[in-house]
Amino acid sequence: MPRPIRASIDLEALRHNYLLAKKRAGHARAFAVIKANAYGHGLDQALRALGDIADGFALLDLAEARAVRAAGLTQPIALLEGFFEPTDLAEVVALGLTPAIHSETQLAMLERAALAGPLDVLLKINSGMNRLGFRADDFATALARLRAVPGVREITLMTHFARADDETGVGTQLAFFKRLTEGLELPVSLANSAALLRFPEAVGHIVRPGIMLYGGSPMPGMLSAEAIGLRPVMTLTSEIIGVQEIDAGDRVGYGGTFEATGPTRVGVVACGYADGYPRHAPTGTPILAGGRRTRILGRVSMDMLACDLTHLPDVGIGTSVTLWGDGLSADEVATAAGTISYELFCALAARVPVTVRGAQA
Ligand SMILES: *Cc1c(COP(=O)(O)O)cnc(C)c1O
Repeated sequence: MPRPIRASIDLEALRHNYLLAKKRAGHARAFAVIKANAYGHGLDQALRALGDIADGFALLDLAEARAVRAAGLTQPIALLEGFFEPTDLAEVVALGLTPAIHSETQLAMLERAALAGPLDVLLKINSGMNRLGFRADDFATALARLRAVPGVREITLMTHFARADDETGVGTQLAFFKRLTEGLELPVSLANSAALLRFPEAVGHIVRPGIMLYGGSPMPGMLSAEAIGLRPVMTLTSEIIGVQEIDAGDRVGYGGTFEATGPTRVGVVACGYADGYPRHAPTGTPILAGGRRTRILGRVSMDMLACDLTHLPDVGIGTSVTLWGDGLSADEVATAAGTISYELFCALAARVPVTVRGAQA
C-alpha cells in the first residue's frame, strides 16, 4: 500500500477557470501560462484540459514547447524569457514559437542568425519592474533593429506589471508603456491574472493569465478566488496515520514549538515538506480532517505534520485529510504560511502521485 498522499487535478475546473479568464479578456486572445510544469499541475494535464480551447500558451523552456507541439497543438506559444543561445533559434523557428526579445544580447543573436522561416516575436519593454526588457532609451533602436531582421514577422509589444495585485496597481507602468509606444500600430500584451481581473484598460491584444487558471487568486487579501468565480484545480489529500493523546505541558514535533495547554488529541498526517507542504507553515495553519476544519500543530517535518483533533473525536487513523484544494483554499493555507498559492502549487513534489478528474480528450 503506497503512502496515502495524493494530488488530484480537476481538468474541468481548469477549463472553467480558463473560460472565465477568456470572458474577462473580451476580444483579446488569452495565452494560458503553463510554465513551471503548469504551476506544478503537470504540463500534460494542462494540455489535456486546455488543448482545444486555449488561444495560445506561454512558457519558458524549449522542452516544454516541444511537449506542446508533440501533443499535436498548433496554437502560438510565447517563450516568456525568449531564447538563451544562438543554437536555440533553429528550433524556435521549427516549432513556430514566439520568443520574447528582452535584451541586446538576444537582438544580436537574431541579427547573426539566418532564420529558416518566419518568426513572430514579443518585444519586451521594461516599464518599471526592472527585471527583463528594454528601457525607454533603448526601445526605439531595438524596434528598428528587430524590424530589419529578415524573417521577423509580427512584433507584439509586451510588458509585465510589478504591482497589479496591490494598491499601487498598474497606472504608472501603463502610462509609461503608452507614452513609449504611442503611434505604433502594433499589438500589445500586458496583463497577467491580476491585471486582467482588476484593470480592463490593461487588457490589450493578448493576455497572459497564469495563477487564476489554477484557481488561485492573485490578490487573496483583496479578492478571494471564490469571489472571482474560480475553482480549485489541485486538491492535495492524505490521511491520518497516527494519533497521540497528550496532556497539558506536552509538546509536539521537532523543537517542541507547540505546547499543549490541556488534554489534546493530536493527529499525525502523512504529508511533510518533502511532499511540498511549506515547512514554515506555523501552528494554526488550517487543514481539513474528515472534511472538518482544524489547525496544524508544531513544526512540519519532512514526511509528516500534526493537527489538532481535540474537537474531532470521530477522526482517527485512516481518516482523509485535505491540505488544500476542494473545501480549503490554497490561498488561505498560503497566507497562513506567509507565502502565495503559486509557491504551494509549484512546490508539489515529484513523489506525490497525481490523479486526474474530469476527463477530457
Ligand atoms: C508568470 C507570468 C505571467 C502569469 O502571471 P500570473 O500572476 O500567474 O497570472 C504572465 N506574464 C509573465 C511575463 C510571467 O512571467
